[in-house]
Amino acid sequence: MFSKHVTKQLSAYCHGEVAADESRMIAEHLIGCNRCREQYEEIKLGVKFAEQLPQLSAPDSMWLELQARLDLETGQNGHASVDVRPKRSRFSFKGWQPAFAGVAAGLLLAVAFGAWSFYVRESRPFWDVVRLNGSPRIGSWRMDQTGRLAVGQWLETDGSSRAKIDVGSIGHVEIDPNTRVRLIETKLTEHRLELARGKMSAKIWAPPRLFFVDTPSGVAADLGCAYTLEVDDAGASLLHVTNGWVALQLKDRESMVPAGAACATRPGIGPGTPYFEDATSNFRAALAELDFNPDDGSGSKARALETVLHEARFRDTLTLWHLLYRVEGKERELVFERMSALSPPPRDVTREGVLRLDDKMLHLWKGYLENSWSNDSGLKKTWIKIWTGTLGKVQGLEEKK
Ligand SMILES: [Zn+2]
Repeated sequence: MFSKHVTKQLSAYCHGEVAADESRMIAEHLIGCNRCREQYEEIKLGVKFAEQLPQLSAPDSMWLELQARLDLETGQNGHASVDVRPKRSRFSFKGWQPAFAGVAAGLLLAVAFGAWSFYVRESRPFWDVVRLNGSPRIGSWRMDQTGRLAVGQWLETDGSSRAKIDVGSIGHVEIDPNTRVRLIETKLTEHRLELARGKMSAKIWAPPRLFFVDTPSGVAADLGCAYTLEVDDAGASLLHVTNGWVALQLKDRESMVPAGAACATRPGIGPGTPYFEDATSNFRAALAELDFNPDDGSGSKARALETVLHEARFRDTLTLWHLLYRVEGKERELVFERMSALSPPPRDVTREGVLRLDDKMLHLWKGYLENSWSNDSGLKKTWIKIWTGTLGKVQGLEEKK
C-alpha cells in the first residue's frame, strides 16, 4: 500500500508547491502512513502559527539609518561622498540604483499580488452556496439561486429545500432537508463546519485533517474523500464513509473509519466502535449494546461481547482492534484471542504488549491489517476521478479565458 515515505516533500506539499500528480500521491500516502501523517501535522501546525504572527512595523530609527546610508552612498547629503564601502559596492549602487529599484519593486509587487490573490481565494471568510431545491435560508435571508455563507452564519433548510456549499477549493458539501449548519472557520490550514441537526454529504479532495465537522457528540476529521454525517434531535450522530478515511473524535476517544464502514456517536460518550456496514445484523446490534448501553449488571454486556466476537469476520478486525482499547482485563484477552485467530499478529507484536495497550505494537498490527480494511482500488479510482475532474475544470476555465 505504501510507496516511499514522503517526509521530505511535506513542507512543499503543505505550501501547495508540488505538482498535481505528486500532490495526489502524497495525499494518498498520508491517508495510510501514521509516521508521515504525524510529521505532516507538525508542519501544518508550524504554518498555522506562522499565519497567526502579528505584522509589526519596523522602528523609525531603522528607516532613518537606511536613509542615511543611502544618502551617504549617493552623496545626496550635500557633502562629498565618503567611501566607507568596498569600491564595487559603490559602483553598483551609483548607476544602477533606479533601474534596480524599479525591477525589485516590480518583482515584489508581482510576488505580493500572487500571494495575496492565493490567500484571498483560499482563506476568504465565506463559502459560496448554491440552492438545489426549495428556499434554503442563510441567517434570516431566503436564498435565491446562490448565496454566501460567512463565518458565524447559519445555513438552514426546511422539509423541501437542499443546498450545496463549496468549501473553498477543496471540495463541496451537500445539505439535505431539515438541516442546520454553521460556518465556524475557513482558512488555509483549517475549514470547519458545525452540523447541529440533519444530514450532510461531504466530498473533500484536500490533504488529511484540513476539513472538520463539529457535531454535538464528536468531531469528524476528513482524511481524504467522501462521507455522509447525520445528527438527530438528541445530538446523536451517524457517520457513513463512502471513500477514503474519516476520524471521529471526542476528547481522547478516536475512531478511524474507512470506506464501507460506519460509526455512531452519542452525547456525553463520543464515538462508538467503527464497523463495516456489511457485518451481520447480530454483530451490529451487539456492538451498539456494548458501545452505548449502560452496564445494568445483568451480564448483557458480556453476552454482547460474546456475540461480537463470534460473528466477527476477518475484515471485522477493524472493530476488534478499536475494542482492544475500550474493554479491560479478561474481556481484552478474549478480543485479543479472537483477533489473533482471524489474523495472527505480525512479528514484534506480543500478547503481553497488546494486553497492556503498547501503542507501538497496536499501530504495527493496525498497519498490517489496514490493507484489508480499506478498499484500496476503490480509493485509487476515486482519486483518479477527482483529479481528472479537477484538471478538466481547470482546463475548462482556461479555455473560457
Ligand atoms: Zn510514510
